[in-house]
Amino acid sequence: MSYVDEVLARVAEKNAEQPEFLQAVTEVLNSLRPVIDQNETQYRKEALLERITEPERVVMFRVPWVDDQGQVQVNRGFRVQFNSAIGPYKGGLRLHPSVNLGIIKFLGFEQIFKNSLTGLPIGGGKGGSDFNPKGKSDREIMAFCQSFMTELSRHIGADTDVPAGDIGVGGREIGYMFGQYKRIRNQYEGVLTGKGLSYGGSLARTEATGYGLLYFTKEMLQANNIDLAGKTVCISGSGNVAIYAAQKAQQLGAKVVTVSDSTGWVYDPDGIDIALLKQVKEIDRARLTAYAEKKTNAVYHEGRGVWVTKCDVALPCATQNELLIDDAKALVENGCFAVAEGANMPTTLEATQYLQQHGVLFAPGKAANAGGVATSALEMSQNSERLSWTFDEVDAKLHDIMVNIFRNLDSAAKRYGVAGDYVAGANIAGFEKIANAMIAQGVC
Ligand code: NDP
Repeated sequence: MSYVDEVLARVAEKNAEQPEFLQAVTEVLNSLRPVIDQNETQYRKEALLERITEPERVVMFRVPWVDDQGQVQVNRGFRVQFNSAIGPYKGGLRLHPSVNLGIIKFLGFEQIFKNSLTGLPIGGGKGGSDFNPKGKSDREIMAFCQSFMTELSRHIGADTDVPAGDIGVGGREIGYMFGQYKRIRNQYEGVLTGKGLSYGGSLARTEATGYGLLYFTKEMLQANNIDLAGKTVCISGSGNVAIYAAQKAQQLGAKVVTVSDSTGWVYDPDGIDIALLKQVKEIDRARLTAYAEKKTNAVYHEGRGVWVTKCDVALPCATQNELLIDDAKALVENGCFAVAEGANMPTTLEATQYLQQHGVLFAPGKAANAGGVATSALEMSQNSERLSWTFDEVDAKLHDIMVNIFRNLDSAAKRYGVAGDYVAGANIAGFEKIANAMIAQGVC
């Protein structure tokens, strides 16, 4: 049995109840076969794959808080510190009822390679809780965030582990958590990223994941002699990533015709009105029905369905496993030629393979959405030097990072004889740096 197959079998046995984690490990290790086969003896002796698939540390904790009725509620908190070979652990915090250890491990595992790809010195981690922020008052959100940080503060620090936002964690939650960290540790340090501008945040962090996704997509299309301008784009989600992906796509001359949320989706033949979308989602925190009510040409549909819309480029920006095999078939049938993942693992393995087999350019999230974490690392740099860069400086650095990520994975894919397979290219380029650092640091 090959080394990869042996490790996959062992990981499956040890983590049988964590399907998302197994899916991520399977996808990554399978695509690393060309590199691992070439170095099999050394990697086996070093138990490199066993080490890289086992988190350095998992912290699971109780998060008690009091709701507006005076009732005590209890949630479960997580921080998975997966790999610190190339820098302090770095990765977001997710607040969503679906959160469990397997999901946080899958996200933390993916984060290792994504962070490596940025070229910046950041290790991989992820955290969150099964707390549902929907429908909670500001005071309840603060009570939860303070309780969550009371425990988390023991495990993180500017040189140890620097969390950020993810689903359900935006500027408001980061603010409450930062305040609590400072209060407990009596230290004003860059321990979280995604902070408000008045207390150490970076300009362009809010826009970074969505903008970065488009810088990457434009570069990928250009390398295949396609111009993004004039193309029709379908986007899913209407959160942080989706909104700024839509904004940058339109700035680059494309037309975005869909967005979605967890209850339905909107088709707007005129192109999504970004100002209205921001008003509905960022300010009113309302459903997309409110968008369709204000925009007469837009049509609202209940449930799933974004991917049946005809488009040239698809950008899934909502959540994991939201682009399924039937969606992939519909996209191919409708002539879509590029899919770039704004969300983490939104496309199932089966759908990814179908798209690749049918000649669709496929950009995996760990490369295409790395602009968020890259700009978080730029926020860390600004905090360390106690300076703030301008929006244009940060945006220019983000642009260069995304272009370099594409070039690195494109060249890694070519070096290992899998040209055009950007999934393999991203995993290989991310893995090589981690593997070298882990081996150099000995058995740890
Ligand atoms: P937000 O919470 O801002 O938005 C998430 C969006 O996805 C919302 O529109 C939400 O709808 C929708 N959504 C969530 N769950 C589901 C579901 N089960 N079915 C359909 N729609 C759903 O999150 P972000 O935009 O920050 O993150 C989106 C994705 O991008 C995640 O996978 C995240 O891990 C990834 N990512 C985010 C980065 C960032 O910087 N923010 C960086 C890199 C990756 P509703 O409003 O109804 O809940």
